[in-house]
Amino acid sequence: RTVYLNGEWLPEADAKVSVFDRGFLFADAIYEVTAVIDGKLIAYPGHAARLRRSLDALGIPMPVGDDELLALHKEIARRNTIQEGLIYLQISRGAQDRDFVFPQDLAPTLVMFTQAKRVLDNPKWKTGLSLQTVPEGRWAQRQIKTVQLLYSSLMKTEAARKGYDDVLFVEDGYITEASSANFHIITTDGTLVTRDLSNALLHGITRGSILDLAQRAGLKAEERSFTVDETRSAAEAFITSASSFVMPVVSLDGHKIGDGTVGPTSRRLLEIYIEDQLQQGDA
Ligand code: PMP
Repeated sequence: RTVYLNGEWLPEADAKVSVFDRGFLFADAIYEVTAVIDGKLIAYPGHAARLRRSLDALGIPMPVGDDELLALHKEIARRNTIQEGLIYLQISRGAQDRDFVFPQDLAPTLVMFTQAKRVLDNPKWKTGLSLQTVPEGRWAQRQIKTVQLLYSSLMKTEAARKGYDDVLFVEDGYITEASSANFHIITTDGTLVTRDLSNALLHGITRGSILDLAQRAGLKAEERSFTVDETRSAAEAFITSASSFVMPVVSLDGHKIGDGTVGPTSRRLLEIYIEDQLQQGDA
């Protein structure tokens, strides 16, 4: 693989970042993941906009302009012949001698790599996921897409060893989101319910697209907090993310959601999401 690092295209074995990089020492870095289908970037404008919001929130300067950022995404897909897969981008505050206090003039570290991978025809779309609820344990600024992913990684790994596909974080009785996706339910009267945006959850780009599509499809939608009990009695549930699109959830803590199979509304939203994204341009 060819990797992008601070202005250079390098074989992955030659791409090296300082041990003093604050991304490494303090998780002082943000990231984005953008899917590619048929060589086309999916929902790119949303990811580029959120990247800027994450950097602004942490006071990390944006190392490249808008046009160059888009050009880099296209170029890395081209260099690695990615027709279908993911583009990962990470920007850290930069390197300095280890100190909690950082100066304002550090040069950010920009890294990009690709993962060739089938994102269409995900076999899990047919079976749906089994999730386990766990206490929310991440920091309170979850709207910033930082690389501080240890709690999510530990919880998902533990759940995976018990046979679950993912975890669902619960705070004060309400669901925030899954380890790396937003969570939504369809109530028995056919309403899409998804948590309202706040610092409690990442403002998912796919979540935003799905709300728009639901509105266009005439589906009633509500943005509000909801509990584990409400989820257990929902007709359907699904998660959304840049890599899984609309992924059905069929059980929670071993209890079936609805009849325990992939529901018609989740399936329909997945279909119209793919259709809609493939019709849109890169930027
Ligand atoms: N929440 C979290 C915690 C995530 O990590 C992600 C995916 N990176 C999402 C939600 C979904 O966001 P998006 O649709 O922009 O991929």
